[in-house]
Amino acid sequence: MADQVFQPLPTVPDHPSLEEEVLAVWEQEGTFEALREQNAGGPSYSFFDGPVTANKSLGVHTAWGRTLKDVFQRYKALRGFDQRYQNGFDCQGLWIEVGVERELGLNSKREIEEYGLEEFARKCRDVVVWSSSELIAGSKRLGQWMDWGNDYYTFSDTNIEYVWRMLKTVNERDWLYLGHRATEWCPRCGTSISQHELGMSGVYQDKADPSLFVRFPLIERAGESLVIWTTTPWTLPANVAAAVNPDAEYGLRENGEWVAVARYPDDTFVTRTRGADMVGWRYRGPFDELVEVAHRVIPWDEVSLDEGTGIVHIAPGCGGEDFELSQLHDLQVVMPVDESGRFYDTFGWLKRLSTVEATDQIVGYLAGKGLLAEAGLYQHRYPHCWRCDTPLIFRIADDWFISVRDLRPQMLDANGTVEWTPKYMGKRMDDWLRNMGDWNISRRRYYGLPLPFYPCACGHLNVIGSRAELEERAIEGIDQLEELRRPWIDRVPIRCEKCGERVDRIAEVGDVWLDAGVVPFSTLGWQNPKWIPQGYATGAARGLTTADLPDHAYWEKWFPADWVSEMREQIRLWFYSQLFMSVVLVGRAPFQRVLGYEKMLDEEGREMHGSWGNMIETSDAFPRMGADVMRWLYCAQPPDRNLLFGFGPADAVKREVLTMWNSVKFFVDYANIEEFRPSWSALNLEGDLEPLDRWLVERTHAFVRDAESGYETYLTVDVMRAYQEFVDDLSNWYIRRSRRRFWKGDDDAAFQTLWYALVQSLRVMAPILPFMTDHLWRTLVLDGPSSVHLAGWPEVPDPDLPLLDEIDDVRRVVTLAHQARAAAGLKLRQPLRRLVVEGAPSVAAHADEIADEVRVKEIEFGPVEAELRVKPNLPALGPRLGKELRTVQHALQAGEFEELPGGRFRAAGHELEPDEVLVERLGREGFAVSSTDGVTVALDTGLDEDLVLEGRVLDLIRQVNTMRKEQGLEITDRIVLTVPNEAEPLLRWEDRIKSEVLAVEIRVDGDLAVERAT
Ligand SMILES: [Zn+2]
Ligand SMILES: [Zn+2]
Repeated sequence: MADQVFQPLPTVPDHPSLEEEVLAVWEQEGTFEALREQNAGGPSYSFFDGPVTANKSLGVHTAWGRTLKDVFQRYKALRGFDQRYQNGFDCQGLWIEVGVERELGLNSKREIEEYGLEEFARKCRDVVVWSSSELIAGSKRLGQWMDWGNDYYTFSDTNIEYVWRMLKTVNERDWLYLGHRATEWCPRCGTSISQHELGMSGVYQDKADPSLFVRFPLIERAGESLVIWTTTPWTLPANVAAAVNPDAEYGLRENGEWVAVARYPDDTFVTRTRGADMVGWRYRGPFDELVEVAHRVIPWDEVSLDEGTGIVHIAPGCGGEDFELSQLHDLQVVMPVDESGRFYDTFGWLKRLSTVEATDQIVGYLAGKGLLAEAGLYQHRYPHCWRCDTPLIFRIADDWFISVRDLRPQMLDANGTVEWTPKYMGKRMDDWLRNMGDWNISRRRYYGLPLPFYPCACGHLNVIGSRAELEERAIEGIDQLEELRRPWIDRVPIRCEKCGERVDRIAEVGDVWLDAGVVPFSTLGWQNPKWIPQGYATGAARGLTTADLPDHAYWEKWFPADWVSEMREQIRLWFYSQLFMSVVLVGRAPFQRVLGYEKMLDEEGREMHGSWGNMIETSDAFPRMGADVMRWLYCAQPPDRNLLFGFGPADAVKREVLTMWNSVKFFVDYANIEEFRPSWSALNLEGDLEPLDRWLVERTHAFVRDAESGYETYLTVDVMRAYQEFVDDLSNWYIRRSRRRFWKGDDDAAFQTLWYALVQSLRVMAPILPFMTDHLWRTLVLDGPSSVHLAGWPEVPDPDLPLLDEIDDVRRVVTLAHQARAAAGLKLRQPLRRLVVEGAPSVAAHADEIADEVRVKEIEFGPVEAELRVKPNLPALGPRLGKELRTVQHALQAGEFEELPGGRFRAAGHELEPDEVLVERLGREGFAVSSTDGVTVALDTGLDEDLVLEGRVLDLIRQVNTMRKEQGLEITDRIVLTVPNEAEPLLRWEDRIKSEVLAVEIRVDGDLAVERAT
């Protein structure tokens, strides 16, 4: 066996071990380096990698995006494009901090400061070092080809300086300001959360909160109270007003409670009044002994009459709209809790309690004072911190903002130049741009981009734009400045450029999306005069990467990106922050095309959570599924729908992969017997091809074209569909129909054609299934490019579409005949007398093939006598036709309709689409009829003795061939066959049996037996 032409393949591939082997070969041969060299100087294709947060190992979620990135880079590489292949890591911000806090058991900002910011910063960097190496290892195992080792890390000083520069520009244009406003706040993280972060998945979760109806006693109206409703009891101590809808009617119940009449239509009211007339009423707040506030009723058009009592409790220190109302009505702003969400010391018995701890006590206190009208529980969707899952609260804070007023129209214009797949995601971006508020860029944290703001007592805001500028203006501390980072940078005061006094930096760090948004500038050397080798490996990134800081010419070449791709959630995050910065700096979009995709869920459609036990780690997925199978699942997924991922779907894919695998194995097994030796130059097919061979060649060309169109429109799902149809044609038509030619051997055209189709399709699928295709390529291609990834995209002529349509029709007739046979309950091995075909004239030339395939003695072309019954498909047709439905239904019932091309019908003046009708054809007695797309077949189901006997012969042949396999015989082994006495009549077909089972002799005696002939 050693001198076989092709390495034999096992029956079933072991994906994980096959992939490990291929990875080793790539490593050893330097396949990726060879590819880059091959494409160097070619046309450029620019892709920016969205940085993955470096705080974890590779998850199956991240692997989805990484696969798509890899697929299109590989496709473009096959087409000769030169690419950058730079991978990126997001290295700062709360995600990293929270992990370190957990690891160190720190529970508050105070504990972090006690632990020490220097050591804390080093621990954060350790996480990034660990995670980035894990992510690189996982991505390599996935088959992703990137320029590993030249990755960008957003915590590099270079990246930070680029953000500084952008912020300086923003300040010069007067867009930067310090805002005093209500903001969503995480009490655990001690920082505000910005609007775009609220859009992240998992932020809104179901939560049960107390539902309290509370009385506010009116001062001038003894015995009467306003009743308000709240689900956040901790905000009551901060109450300053009660809002009523001025146009609504309010009523006084007998028990002295005021509520909106519309909320309680069945109640009896002693008296009624309009909301407008209640404005100015004064009342006593429930916590007046703790906080001195004058409470009064204010008007507010937005007061809802759909929930609560129609009277709304207003606490400007704890709510966004409340705060705006306080500006409008000149209300006092009471801030009850500090940045860790605990009551200030001035709040008496509430002091130091968290908002959660305070709840029960507040409820008890209200009840004790007789102020609680009703208490219960309320289920609602409530925002949680995206990093630590703590329920958010509202606080008033001073945060730094970038005004979007001037930028909004420019960003909308810029987004108008971007082509989005799927299209609706571009509309989501437009919606977001239209509705976004000013960008809150400051966070009260530690391990993040230090905001370069130095507000001076003289009123001037100094904004530093680079490290050089900082060094120039620093008063002290430059020597100890290890990185542009807290705590080191906090020890570098500067001189005010206005008054010359000493100024300190504010303590805040920046929103992480600043770090990621500047990447199209910082990694490409925008406005950098001279190329700096390893110039990106600065600050915390030193030692982790060897990435250069290129010069401006390089930026000109690679900006904007031809394509970027991330999940939908990134519309408000990375896609937005990049667009934002790009519009600020150069006035246009940083990318031309975007591919977005929806969420990943488990195979039952539930979110994946570590705590639910349904999370799949790649460390589990790689050995159990293999990377190719994972990539198949990712690529077969339409991007506008959630991906249901799991081991069940993976097993189904493993079975599907076999069709291609078996086709190659079939070729290899027979080509080895025949010692057929293809040469790379034979990729240009020449010589005498049979019609079926010519068809397969054209079919292959059509597949190449279909896949091309899928790749060019960034829809891997289209490539996968084209592939599945092609492989079905290849295996279930070409190979099935040609089997005999391979058995007989000595038919170079068959071998040549099959080899051609296999080799070309491997090239097409190489971007999606990089391991299996390369393995099979290395099996099949003896003297061509060493790897499928170096073989380029197949250049093929346009396919012969009429020929393809003709065979499509043939396959359609065969499928219909099989359907008719199944409907009549006749098994496939039972020969039948006749098939009548109507409506597929082009298949006449293939009558013999069809007869053979569907096992009938004769094919007849002509009208099929069948009664056509058409019924309306009510769920589809009802909504469209409305009252007309009955008329159409009667017409169809009475047979008054006309058949139109494409499976459509006309009845009572209406044209009905194929999915709007249910079609049934009843054949003549003795015929089974089936029909689709204008083709109808009728199968003669009558049997006679001859047909029955022949059916038994075919059963016997199948049985013997199964026995051959079970006994482990080689496909070339000859046998002696023994058949039982009752099978003797079958020997009328002795020659046929012998040739089909490779028997040299048939004996009649005892039990059925197979023996290798000697
Ligand atoms: Zn948090
Ligand atoms: Zn000053």
